[in-house]
Amino acid sequence: MEPLDRRSFIVTAGAAGAALAAGSPVSGAAQSNGAVFISTWQWGIPANARGAEILGAGGSLMDAVEKGINAIEDDPNVETVGYGGLPNAQGEVELDAGIMNGTTHRAGSVCNLHKIKNPISVARLIMEKTRHTTMAGEGALQFALSMGFEPMQLLTPKSLEAWLKWKNDPNHKTFWIDKDHHDTIGMLGTDGKGHVVAGCSTSGLAWKIPGRVADSPLVGCGYYADDSAGAASATGNGDVMTNYCTSAFIVGRMAEGAHPQDACDQAMRFMAKTAPDVTGGEYCVIALSPAGETGAASMNAAQPLQYAVWRGGRATPLQTAPAYRR
Ligand code: ASP
Repeated sequence: MEPLDRRSFIVTAGAAGAALAAGSPVSGAAQSNGAVFISTWQWGIPANARGAEILGAGGSLMDAVEKGINAIEDDPNVETVGYGGLPNAQGEVELDAGIMNGTTHRAGSVCNLHKIKNPISVARLIMEKTRHTTMAGEGALQFALSMGFEPMQLLTPKSLEAWLKWKNDPNHKTFWIDKDHHDTIGMLGTDGKGHVVAGCSTSGLAWKIPGRVADSPLVGCGYYADDSAGAASATGNGDVMTNYCTSAFIVGRMAEGAHPQDACDQAMRFMAKTAPDVTGGEYCVIALSPAGETGAASMNAAQPLQYAVWRGGRATPLQTAPAYRR
């Protein structure tokens, strides 16, 4: 698909706005005044719905984003997040997550967490109960256990079968050289009163080299939030995107006055200038202003980002049909 010029972008943005107005009402979800959620991929819809429900019931925005992401971590059918996420090359599920409070400018994150299905909740506790920001591996597991999390087997019969199939294929590709199979739940929320929260959770790349950490749990890469500017999250090839601090880049542009859509497009342009290998593959971002304006972009038209917006009790699935505005 051809890159968009400014006029066709505006038409597309208008069409997205129309879709938003026509979005389906979410039964049971409270119509939290002015609140907006935007989340990555098709599971963004249930994540946003859960977040809206929590906020509508009197929970904080932080509760809403955490619980929204928990809903996807708990779902065994999402093979790139939490329980049922595809494992590393040794057959162990390693989870990464991070969350950031735009008011306090504090983040918490966890990398390479084993045996705990809700890494976003562990990340939140690191932020709220310790003076640290990021914890990894065995220490993070011990911290989670000390906070009362129950260890469990994160492989499902389906993910175990997928790993065995990969392992027993004599020609299987490895991540010393290859990339495949990945996604996240990235979720951004505003309460409509100027407060934003960003969160991100993933099992990372399937069959990754054990110990690999990419953008999702790193502050400013997979997620970033600042009440004075907005929030952003990234999904896609995190080995590349980490090098661009994508989410902090987007929020930085918003701090200078850019609309979230412009800020997302600028991030893609910035990456396209120097990343060697971005003409194929997945490189996607979402953004939200404190006032509830949204943006989303994908580097490649052939690999659009599906995402979901919740606003005023209505859920709208959207897709970045055209590539970013060059
Ligand atoms: N960025 C994640 C990672 O590389 C995966 C994804 O969002 O697709 O671990």
